[in-house]
Amino acid sequence: MEERANRLLSPATALRVALVVFVLAWIFGPYALRSAVPILLVFLIALGLELNFLVSALRSTPSPRPDRRPQDVDRERYGYDHETDDLVLVRRGDEEVWVAYSGESAEEMEALLADVDASANEADEPAEVEPAQWRAVAPVRRFLVGLGIIGVLGLTIWFVESRTGWDSLDGSTRLEAVERFSDEGSLVADKPVSIYCDESRDFVGAVQHADGVAEVGGDHAYLTPEICYDLYRLGFEDEVKGSQTARALAVLAHEAWHLRGVSDEGTTECYALQSGVETGRRLGLSEGTARQLMRQQLTENALRGRGSFEYLVPPECRDGGRLDLDPGSARFP
Ligand SMILES: [Zn+2]
Repeated sequence: MEERANRLLSPATALRVALVVFVLAWIFGPYALRSAVPILLVFLIALGLELNFLVSALRSTPSPRPDRRPQDVDRERYGYDHETDDLVLVRRGDEEVWVAYSGESAEEMEALLADVDASANEADEPAEVEPAQWRAVAPVRRFLVGLGIIGVLGLTIWFVESRTGWDSLDGSTRLEAVERFSDEGSLVADKPVSIYCDESRDFVGAVQHADGVAEVGGDHAYLTPEICYDLYRLGFEDEVKGSQTARALAVLAHEAWHLRGVSDEGTTECYALQSGVETGRRLGLSEGTARQLMRQQLTENALRGRGSFEYLVPPECRDGGRLDLDPGSARFP
């Protein structure tokens, strides 16, 4: 029972439980987790650990290498209770036997061997030895179970992803949405720009830890599929998901301000939170809701900024401050 309890808490079991919990959290949990952690990397780490368990289990399997010294079974069989005697290996036909030798003559040696023969016949049952190839089966089976779990989790993510989110939209809908985002981005950038949704995640999301990418002064930007989907839901389905929608608007406007030529991150974010009001209104929000969402983003920026100073909006980002895009109005953003 104790051994069974140990097995339940083995590193492999702990890894699998942690993996399942993490993948569920990744699918159903906060959007921040999904955009911060590349799930493929998690699977690769899990696969590596499973391989490591397999290799170390196979290595720790005792090898059937013969031990030339007298074994316990020999000592018992031939009555060598003590290590004090010298033991010599004597070949008898095709068998080798150990006998205690303390300077006996050849005749005495013969007598000793005769004794050995007499007692050898009593216990001649072959010891049950598990064949080496069977010992490898259990670790390999455990490894295959681990592979199966990783496979099932991967399929689950693929299934969920293909039926929800940006990837679940058909091609023409996505094209229409992207054109709409580009129109909004062009208004903020004050020139024609193209907004793309980086479905293959070559540019944004996952590894880069960013929701969007744009070249300063360039003419195109990439957004993560999650940001694109939140913008789509707002513009095409009239769905507002609180701070998620606010973040998506802020990211679109942020990248558009980079395209307009602003490089400083804090300044870019400050302008984006002000432009986000108009962009949000154009995508279907009331002005009141749009302002409220952007103000909320400004508050979150101050909280987040402690961790990533670069993105913190400057103190001039306030009503009547140097970065106020509409100094005449008393509202900010
Ligand atoms: Zn930026």
